[in-house]
Amino acid sequence: MIRHMTKHIFVTGGVCSSLGKGLNSASIGLLLESRGLRVRLQKIDPYVNVDPGTMNPYEHGEVYVTDDGAETDLDLGHYNRFTNARADQSCNLTTGSIYRQVLDDERRGIFEGKTVQMIPHVTDAIRAGIRKLDSPDVDVAITEIGGTVGDIEGLVFLEAIRQMGQQYGRGNVLFVHLTLVPYLRAAQELKTKPTQHSVARLREIGIFPDILICRTEKPLEADHIAKISLFCNLEKDCVIEELDAKPNIYRIPMMLHRQGLDQLICARLKLDTPEAELSAWRKMLHRLENPRQSVKVAVVGKYISRQSAYESIYAALEHGGIANQAHVQIRRVEAQDIESKGIEACLRGVHGVLVPGGFGPRGVEGKVHAAQFAREKRIPFFGICLGMQAAVIEFARHVCGLQGAQSTELDRETPHPVISLMEEQKAVTDLGGTMRLGAQPCTLKEGSMARAMYGREVVQERHRHRYELNNDYRDLLAERGMESVGFYAEKDLVEIVELAGHPWFIGVQFHPEFKSKPIEPHPLFAGFIEAALKHQEADGA
Ligand code: GLN
Repeated sequence: MIRHMTKHIFVTGGVCSSLGKGLNSASIGLLLESRGLRVRLQKIDPYVNVDPGTMNPYEHGEVYVTDDGAETDLDLGHYNRFTNARADQSCNLTTGSIYRQVLDDERRGIFEGKTVQMIPHVTDAIRAGIRKLDSPDVDVAITEIGGTVGDIEGLVFLEAIRQMGQQYGRGNVLFVHLTLVPYLRAAQELKTKPTQHSVARLREIGIFPDILICRTEKPLEADHIAKISLFCNLEKDCVIEELDAKPNIYRIPMMLHRQGLDQLICARLKLDTPEAELSAWRKMLHRLENPRQSVKVAVVGKYISRQSAYESIYAALEHGGIANQAHVQIRRVEAQDIESKGIEACLRGVHGVLVPGGFGPRGVEGKVHAAQFAREKRIPFFGICLGMQAAVIEFARHVCGLQGAQSTELDRETPHPVISLMEEQKAVTDLGGTMRLGAQPCTLKEGSMARAMYGREVVQERHRHRYELNNDYRDLLAERGMESVGFYAEKDLVEIVELAGHPWFIGVQFHPEFKSKPIEPHPLFAGFIEAALKHQEADGA
């Protein structure tokens, strides 16, 4: 057999969606890293879109951006929060991206006149996509297959991973299946049948799971484990129980570790490693679970009813709490409600206001109003991307006297285009993958709050937007107190603004939330929560 440097773990899901394949993949990654292994994580989404970049956040949730500018599934955010695995373009495959490549190859004549078929051509392209993670500096690649076993659109991907199991051989590939053991209240019983069916479905297509992770709301009894083990053809120690971890997802790795999952994976993959070293993670859990104080911050957004639309924002705020050993209570405010219900009703009693990114006009006036409220009441304000743009618009209108100031995204005819399109964006017509995307360096001005928080002169942060602060207004804004303090030097673009004389008012054109981790909270989020705590103290609230 060929000697492979990188071993592969495939995570599939059964019974129903939303069981947490992403969190479990991320947890496995963390546990393997805690044993000194180098991992990478990848998500396969069986939908036909090339990437989620053009999807509505209600439909898909947040779009997670990598350093190299890929617009990807939000599960990559979970991977980032749990592990140090490097994320890039190769970490998210979709049916659309695979087909696009196969069709491009077909047009270029790569298949030399052959009939192009699902097997082998599409499965070959999928395997090549997975093998991109193979590298001498990667011990284990973890690939999560989106959707549920039995979905028509997932079949070709399952066939591809089956082939990989065959090709790489036992000891090099491991199949982990996440399933649900539902509790029937009327019968007062846990039911293992759906799990049996789901595994049978996998076996039909030739995949024999090595490990089952069983989501359940009640502890599994010995006879449930015996039943699952017998009917699913697995040893008992390969049946792992996963009790609902709400509200703390960062407990999941500990739950899996206690049942010996990392030990089991290493044994199966013949990986000789030291025991798991989880002290930093434990310390973080301790801080998270034993807050010394609590603080209320508002997130003013447009997709507020959908938790996953701002997944990384909520996570990064929680990390800011961990940094300060404080519990962060998040009040989700629908931006449009600010206009209909009034600003006081929406923001009264909060100690910080965060306005995240977004697109299009709906709710923007509410965000502008939120920035004004925070500025005037001296409440800590954190504007991210569109949130920063809203703060600039507000300041231009109400402090600089530029009536009708607006972003040209929202009003092309505005008399004062304080936010406008970059020259290079003007000719762009395609929507997918054409924004200013990915990591770029930002130089921080000496003496600024941002510089003090980062503790460095140059930082790398990720972008996903088309519009920028219009440099024609930079001086006027600064004269009146809104100073530009972070720059993308190469193109002379403003990345950060701060308000002089305000306790904490920062707007950033990039997305710091994508880089925050619970054991490495992002400095701006840590600073924001610290400022919110101070505001609360001063307020006597
Ligand atoms: N719509 C704005 C732009 O394209 C902001 C984007 C965002 O917040 N991600 O510039």
